[in-house]
Amino acid sequence: MTGPSIIVNYSLTIMLFISIGLAFFYYRRHDALYRSIVHVLNNVPGGIIIATRRTNIVLCNRLVADTLGLVPVQGGEPQNYDVRDNQMLAELCLDLFEKPLAPEREARSFEIVDQHGGHHRWDRHISSYRIKGRDLPAILLADRTEMERLTRRLEQSSTHDPLTGLVNSDVFHDRFSQALEAAARNGSMTGALVIEIDGFAELQNEVGWQAAKQAVIGIAARLEAETRAADTLARIGECSFAILLTALGSTAAAMRSAQRFVDAVNLRQGPAVGQPISCSIGIALAPRDGSTSVRLLDRATRACRRAQHAGGGGVSMYEAMLDDLHDGPSATLVADMRRGLEEGEFFVEYQPILDFASGRPVRCEALLRWRHPQKGVISPADFIPAAEQAGIIHQFGDFVFKTACRDASAWPVGVGVSVNASVIELLSGEWPLHLCEMLARAGLVTERLSIEITETGAIDSLDRLASVTRQLRRLGIGVLLDDFGTGHSSLSQLSVLEFDGLKIDRQFVDDLGDPRCAEIVRMLAEFCGQRGAIVIAEGVESAAQAAQLKAMGCTHGQGFYFGRPMPQGELLRKLGAAPLEKRPLSPAATR
Ligand code: C2E
Ligand code: CA
Ligand code: CA
Repeated sequence: MTGPSIIVNYSLTIMLFISIGLAFFYYRRHDALYRSIVHVLNNVPGGIIIATRRTNIVLCNRLVADTLGLVPVQGGEPQNYDVRDNQMLAELCLDLFEKPLAPEREARSFEIVDQHGGHHRWDRHISSYRIKGRDLPAILLADRTEMERLTRRLEQSSTHDPLTGLVNSDVFHDRFSQALEAAARNGSMTGALVIEIDGFAELQNEVGWQAAKQAVIGIAARLEAETRAADTLARIGECSFAILLTALGSTAAAMRSAQRFVDAVNLRQGPAVGQPISCSIGIALAPRDGSTSVRLLDRATRACRRAQHAGGGGVSMYEAMLDDLHDGPSATLVADMRRGLEEGEFFVEYQPILDFASGRPVRCEALLRWRHPQKGVISPADFIPAAEQAGIIHQFGDFVFKTACRDASAWPVGVGVSVNASVIELLSGEWPLHLCEMLARAGLVTERLSIEITETGAIDSLDRLASVTRQLRRLGIGVLLDDFGTGHSSLSQLSVLEFDGLKIDRQFVDDLGDPRCAEIVRMLAEFCGQRGAIVIAEGVESAAQAAQLKAMGCTHGQGFYFGRPMPQGELLRKLGAAPLEKRPLSPAATR
């Protein structure tokens, strides 16, 4: 409250100073400065009343006159008013005409009803000055209602987000710390949810900041409507929110709450933008995942990113297993993955890859997902490395190939399927033959399948991999080098391995503004063009990126702009709607 009271005193001091000046010049009547000082008086943030002589006539500034609806005295100065004509003015000035004058700076409060019926609380201070032997009484009026509003606004702006009116992250951390202390005393569970609007940058590009801002406000309102009184919802970033869940009964209860929030936001028509909008949620629980608000929020954010990586619109629970990946998978994680395979928790989604020339999807990438009963949907990036280390990657590989080949046989013949394969799989025994068996069982021609290979430079025997890629191509299976430009991939591999195309990593697409990145993309496209190979740009999130990549020589694009990874049912609907060319597809056919 220090700030506003300083403001009150400061403005009163200024008003006092000015009124002394005015009084002095007033008696010089026709001095030119008189009018300019009246102008200043009319623009100070408070009311001023000065008695010109011991009559009922006073001089008021515009604020007083406007508030009380005063009519100037006929034939007098425009600032002169007859006290008797207005009851409120008479009340305010009563002491001014009493003898002796009221003691200096005597403060009193008045309830004022303005001419429009608005209510104000004015604090009145009286001053008197002796100039040229005469006492000049003056009233300074400060509108306390206005000050209180200002105070509230100042308090609000330090604790609340101005766009949505929700509490900000400072308040959130304070409440979270208090909740954690209380939970530690009574042994209850507390949860942190981090909610991010999916593809917000893309949305903003498309609809502009004004509409995107309205969407944020609309989503905040929906989340607020779902938030229990005991919980706290805050806006913590441009397109992110956090919710503190107190007194949680179980992990499942946290999942249920998160699902409720996701359902409230995931709509076919998002607020203000009129197009589908979704959010992803990450959950971290105390005491299990941490004991401080900062740590829990950080872990919930990591879980949220994973939910977004898995395609968005879902919930992901933070799991210590993410940290296990740095030190090798734990026995629990491996057992959990085996159990998940047996219980049918894994499934495959498909993301379309578009041919820039025709603007149509010509293949779809199969992406593995794990719907964990407690942890929600987990991205392959979080368990594939562990599966490789634990030696169980083949089981995942077989599952994805069988599922993808079966699903792809229901697609239009012009659309092929692209499956990720771990180098460990590729180098094991008779893998190409095993693959052909799986294809035959699914009734899919080899030409409709391509294999995406990553981390090619990390292996010791590039020669053995070269022999596998040769065999695959002889069988009619396409070979794509994935994530090109990152990690261990290098130009030298391009001369050793046979391949049908490169997938340029998302990082390059994100950094197209950097001339060096743009130059590398251009060079790779030219190199592939000369060899008759295709170039697929990954992570295309906007029309502008797609146009730029096409202009740089990329032949294909994949990314949220063209379509997120989706289940088979949704893909079938999408492919059915698209006018597809009825021709067999091999990587060579799309060059
Ligand atoms: P990847 O092969 O690079 O797959 C593309 C990843 O980028 C996918 O993440 C996809 O959801 C995401 N993505 C696609 N378009 C966009 C976009 O426009 N913006 C952004 N931000 N992301 C986009 P996902 O599904 O989490 O897969 C992660 C990685 O896991 C894959 O990276 C791949 O290396 C691996 N993986 C996925 N499925 C399998 C599989 O069946 N077997 C093996 N061995 N690895 C797999
Ligand atoms: Ca891939
Ligand atoms: Ca990739």
